[in-house]
Amino acid sequence: FEYGDYTEPNQVKEALASGSYSHLAFIHHETSTGMMDPVEELVAICKELNVISIVDAMSTFGAYPYNLTELGVDYIFSSSNKCIHGMAGLSFVLFHNGQKEALKANGRSYYFDVYKQWDNLQKKNQLRFTPPVQICYSFMAAIRETLSEGIDARWERYKANWQILYDGLLDLGFKPLLPLDQESKILLALKLDGKEGFDFEHFHDYLYKRNITIYPGVMPEKATFRVAIIGDLYPDDMHKVMEDMTSYFSS
Ligand SMILES: *Cc1c(COP(=O)(O)O)cnc(C)c1O
Repeated sequence: FEYGDYTEPNQVKEALASGSYSHLAFIHHETSTGMMDPVEELVAICKELNVISIVDAMSTFGAYPYNLTELGVDYIFSSSNKCIHGMAGLSFVLFHNGQKEALKANGRSYYFDVYKQWDNLQKKNQLRFTPPVQICYSFMAAIRETLSEGIDARWERYKANWQILYDGLLDLGFKPLLPLDQESKILLALKLDGKEGFDFEHFHDYLYKRNITIYPGVMPEKATFRVAIIGDLYPDDMHKVMEDMTSYFSS
């Protein structure tokens, strides 16, 4: 698929049905466009066709309500610092028990060896190399906060926050990069040329002075900027953001 194109399950199925592929690795939420790929459908196709699934859940895990038992994914990985709200510096992989032998046989790196890490944790309850202790404690606190809020509640909060930005920015005349049914509700990419005379840098600096950070796009040919709602943010925060954005255009 081209950058920015939706991962059509039917096309994936057709390609995998050729029998020439052993694994499918894909991104659940593409954080540069805000596109949510159909994880349940893609993993189901993998299972049907005996293809191993590997899911990059970096910017969904902790907020998106996965049912891992039902999903039946082979590998899914994320990190401490996005929707779980911890500090950056730790990454983790969850894998299906049935993958242990394959992992053991295929470890090709001294340091990044998921099997050896798992094995060491079982035997010694320790990471293999010097652990980033502060990050581990911060991650533990973040996991506790996540569980105490509840994933379903966090997902509802994220969606509500996203909707405030989406409605507000469209009201201001901006155009989203993606059709609504592909939007993640976690991050929103808007077209730079969607609003007459819009100067991203100037808008950015105005907001930055007011403690609001917006991001440039990743791929220059898509000409977007991005806003995201990952974090301990609530509707009041989003309304404040929209007030400042609105005041920029009315001043
Ligand atoms: C952030 C992100 C990454 C990279 O994670 P780092 O913590 O920056 O190494 C990879 N994939 C996706 C989808 C992401 O959102």
